[in-house]
Amino acid sequence: MKAIRVHQFGGPEVLRIEEVADPVPGPGQVVVDVKAAGVNPVDTYIRAGTYARKPPLPYTPGSDGAGVVSLVGSEVRRFKPGDRVYVGGTSTGAYAEKALSEESQIHPLPERVSFAQGAGVHVPYATAYRALFQLGHARAGDIALVHGASGGVGIAGVQLARAAGLTVIGTAGSDRGRALVLEQGAHHAIDHNAGDFADQVQAATGGRGPNLILEMLANVNLTKDLQLVATHGRILVIGNRGTIEMNPRDAMAKEAIIQGVLLFNVTPDDSMRIHSALCAGLENGSLRPVVGQELALADAPRAHQAVMTPGAYGKIVLTP
Ligand code: NAP
Repeated sequence: MKAIRVHQFGGPEVLRIEEVADPVPGPGQVVVDVKAAGVNPVDTYIRAGTYARKPPLPYTPGSDGAGVVSLVGSEVRRFKPGDRVYVGGTSTGAYAEKALSEESQIHPLPERVSFAQGAGVHVPYATAYRALFQLGHARAGDIALVHGASGGVGIAGVQLARAAGLTVIGTAGSDRGRALVLEQGAHHAIDHNAGDFADQVQAATGGRGPNLILEMLANVNLTKDLQLVATHGRILVIGNRGTIEMNPRDAMAKEAIIQGVLLFNVTPDDSMRIHSALCAGLENGSLRPVVGQELALADAPRAHQAVMTPGAYGKIVLTP
């Protein structure tokens, strides 16, 4: 099969398409014919060698995908060849024609959801769900600020929060991104680069401030988030690309919680609950992943450049 291989950490050019052996499932494992693979920012950090978790070289990137089950190992109970599934983790990498996963890492993909959309489910939606509900304890009636709502995690956060009865404010840096954020269910869309950003958030919340902030770029925004958040509010740090100086008194004054989020930390039980909720949302149509760009597998280097470029618009997926 064809797969993207990384033989040394470095820039996007280290992503090369090669021929490798097809995976074979062991007990409890499943091989999926990948129809689309999701590109996440973390794939670029791992490729660059700057991420805390580094795979042994060479490796095939990608944790997210969607496709059709082609082979099942012994002891696999929930899936059979021909089933449409989305992939949330694989030991052989999703940027490939086939991926090997544990049975617990694959989930049914309803007919109404395309394979390209299915490739955008796992990391974005599981992270947004964990942040909102498992760690943020979001409740109907809360106000959520999704700070960075035009990308994969942000759109997931907007859809999940809206479906759960929250008032949703989403931010994006481009007109196109803000239009998308409104289309996906946000009540308000604000430019995170606007000089009067804080005033706009205060106006949208009637001066209360958001109860929850899903933060995609904490090193830029955390200090301002503490000024904005409601008393007893929660700031969920999802994305961060540097350091920031903050005054802890701002957290004291609000009795605010700054909560880190890391999808790698989910327990098997949390993961089962997350994907049960996501499968229900995909089935009932409240969760609709947005695919902004589809590229051929061989274009993985271009996809890695694009995912780090401002002006996010949903997901970038690769089609083998
Ligand atoms: P993405 O699709 O590239 O989207 C990035 C988002 O950040 C866009 O909405 C972008 O908006 C926004 N952004 C850019 N500048 C911003 C600013 N100054 N303030 C607020 N938002 C800003 O990436 P993603 O997949 O949604 O992931 C978002 C971040 O979360 C990444 O850093 C990723 O590594 C991280 N992440 C963490 C976890 C975890 O487990 N903690 C899981 C998944 C993702 P514009 O482009 O419109 O400006």
